[in-house]
Amino acid sequence: MYTTTARLPLPQAEAEAVVASLCAHLAHHDAAITPLGEGRTEIQHDDSRALVTIDAGMLTFHVEVPGLEQLQQVKAGIVIHLSEYAPPGALQALSWEGDGLDAMPMPEFRLLTVLESRDVTPHMRRLTFSGENLAPFASPDSLHVSLFIPPAGAGEVAWPQIEGGLLQLPRTGQRPVVRKYTIRAIDPVDGTLAIDFVLHAQAGPASAFAAGATPGQVIGMAGLNGGGLKAAGRYLFFCDETGLPALARMLETLPEDATGEAFVEVADAGESQPLLAPSGLPVHWLYRDGAAPGSTTLLQEAFAGLDWPAEAPRTYLWVATEYAAFRELRKAARQRMRPDKDEHLIVSFWRAGLDEDQLAAQAPAETGD
Ligand SMILES: Cc1cc2nc3c(=O)[nH]c(=O)nc-3n(C[C@H](O)[C@H](O)[C@H](O)COP(=O)(O)OP(=O)(O)OC[C@H]3O[C@@H](n4cnc5c(N)ncnc54)[C@H](O)[C@@H]3O)c2cc1C
Repeated sequence: MYTTTARLPLPQAEAEAVVASLCAHLAHHDAAITPLGEGRTEIQHDDSRALVTIDAGMLTFHVEVPGLEQLQQVKAGIVIHLSEYAPPGALQALSWEGDGLDAMPMPEFRLLTVLESRDVTPHMRRLTFSGENLAPFASPDSLHVSLFIPPAGAGEVAWPQIEGGLLQLPRTGQRPVVRKYTIRAIDPVDGTLAIDFVLHAQAGPASAFAAGATPGQVIGMAGLNGGGLKAAGRYLFFCDETGLPALARMLETLPEDATGEAFVEVADAGESQPLLAPSGLPVHWLYRDGAAPGSTTLLQEAFAGLDWPAEAPRTYLWVATEYAAFRELRKAARQRMRPDKDEHLIVSFWRAGLDEDQLAAQAPAETGD
């Protein structure tokens, strides 16, 4: 077994809030959480085990895993989650002991080379990439990734690595920006994957890259994961065009007898696209028709109009939208879902007026549920 211990000085109340958010998040990803009392919690996931303790102003993670790659994954996971849940700046005081302290590439980091660029619709650009060893990204439970986009005209690019347990961008070279995307399609045997980028009006680094991408350009990709569906008797999907690649992929993996409904908000009829969905799961396209993205209540109205009979089978609700719609749908879902039966994943995929770096600085409770 490999072991590591991470220590983060944090006041008691803040440490408790971090552990509560972390446990809620990991429970959603099928980790077994066991409160042991006196500020101690055991977290078990696959073959990895962590003992989390809060004591005298110190939050400590003691982790045991069977392999070095899992160790680096767990360390990267601790850093990523602490950077989400701990107060800004707190992470600077994070310290590590144990195995795997040398600098090494980020686990599951891949370079992707653009093979082809084509328009799915006028404002949805599909880039097909080639990459090595893509099999770990092919699981239907791991839909999402972080893309590392080098600045335009960059010379030597500084790809991220794990150093002393922390995710670092090397000090020399041009730093890429990080944006979250969904793998629309993947073929690990061919070594290719496709990502659909919304080309939005106020282009950020990712949409600008997609708009101008040419074969041979290289970006980075690392796991972010999540997004897989839970088995249910009925599926309800609500998303805008940023959630459309994930929706399209999930619909393709559902059994043919799956039932439910999907609602997709896009700019106009020219942005709808054929989706492969089970026959009992109609897809309803909602058009903004001139309204700005993130400014309508189309999805909220569709949710309010749902027929949700008390005796309906167990429902899985999946929502991925702009922040304002996410908040309204989360509120509406909390009122309508049956706690004993239904499950959900309700997340904000972007926020009007904020780029993703600003969004990442928001409290996690404000971007997902
Ligand atoms: C888990 C996850 C998966 C995602 N998958 C996808 C995907 O597969 N395809 C995809 O296109 N997006 C996806 N997104 C959304 C994407 O990460 C954001 O839209 C991101 O902001 C795009 O980065 P950017 O560099 O283009 O713009 P940023 O630099 O982040 O933002 C620049 C400006 O554009 C605005 N903006 C951002 N997105 C949009 C939009 N869609 N419409 C209008 N204005 C916008 C921002 O508010 C900001 O004002 C996903 C998000 C998450 C969290």
